[in-house]
Amino acid sequence: MRQVMINTDRTVVVVEAADPVPPGPGGAVVTVDATSICGSDLHFYDGDLPLIAPLSIGHEFVGTVAAIGAEVRTIKVGDRVMCSCLAGCGQCDGCLAGDPATCASGVEVFGSGVLQGGQATSVAVPGADFQLRALPDSIDDDAALLLTDNLCTGWTGAKRANVPPGGTVVVLGLGAVGMCAVRSAVAQGAGQVLAADPVAGRRAMAAASGATPIEGPTIPAVMDATGGRGAHAVIDAVALDTTLDDAFGAVRAGGTVSVIGVHDLNPYPVPMLTALFRSITLTMNTAAVHQSWKELIPLVESGAIRTDGIVTHRFPLDAAAAAYALAAERRGDCLKVALQP
Ligand SMILES: [Zn+2]
Ligand SMILES: [Zn+2]
Repeated sequence: MRQVMINTDRTVVVVEAADPVPPGPGGAVVTVDATSICGSDLHFYDGDLPLIAPLSIGHEFVGTVAAIGAEVRTIKVGDRVMCSCLAGCGQCDGCLAGDPATCASGVEVFGSGVLQGGQATSVAVPGADFQLRALPDSIDDDAALLLTDNLCTGWTGAKRANVPPGGTVVVLGLGAVGMCAVRSAVAQGAGQVLAADPVAGRRAMAAASGATPIEGPTIPAVMDATGGRGAHAVIDAVALDTTLDDAFGAVRAGGTVSVIGVHDLNPYPVPMLTALFRSITLTMNTAAVHQSWKELIPLVESGAIRTDGIVTHRFPLDAAAAAYALAAERRGDCLKVALQP
């Protein structure tokens, strides 16, 4: 098989490796049909997260089951499947609640150093009954790629933002995850979704997804749009210190700051005193994947939540270096790059 690696000098290469076998009796091997580059992969590429050895990268992939272990029950060879970006044991209370990030055995992320990356021609998947989900024909590969991570992250972040019916929520950052948060907040019944991003093309796409784009400094723009009170909630899909400052500044007293962006390793000085006296709830999450699948799969199938337009560019897997270079430019016309083996 071939797999994408990021070297410690941040170069991206595609290398040959031994074909995977099912990791244990509960495991499976998936032949990858499509995989995508996530904003969190770019943290390794850009150098925000340290690399001590070449990394087999990628945690968003869909494909066809090529082999299963003797104890796998819910999927069979030949099934078209998607894989949760987060791997859990599948048996603890956290996994049974559908949130593998809270797995009692500790969550493992594909393509971050322990499990093989999904940007490859085939992937070994442990705990296949939990990690893999057979896909109906009505869900195409682009939608399924979003369901492996970004849409579940945005959906969970919007739920935890706890926007009252008809309330106002701000989404900071309109990359793939932010756009998924916009569509999730609209689908969950927010009255007004204010969408902020420095890139005009991304604001236009958020507008087409049901949001009201805001421009310029975020806090005054949110105050203008909310009669000076601030938003009921702010979803930060970037999590730079500057956007976190905007989130705490734009949320109204009693509101929620919901962080779904991936911060770097440096600490952020939470404005504790004002947040305490203003009764601000701070919540943070990655994707509660399986919980979200339960809610999102029917909505994606019925078209009640749209998945189109987010995968904007496609490259052959072997052109991964060019694909990373494009994704890292964060252009207005490029939300998400898919790789096809
Ligand atoms: Zn991702
Ligand atoms: Zn677990």
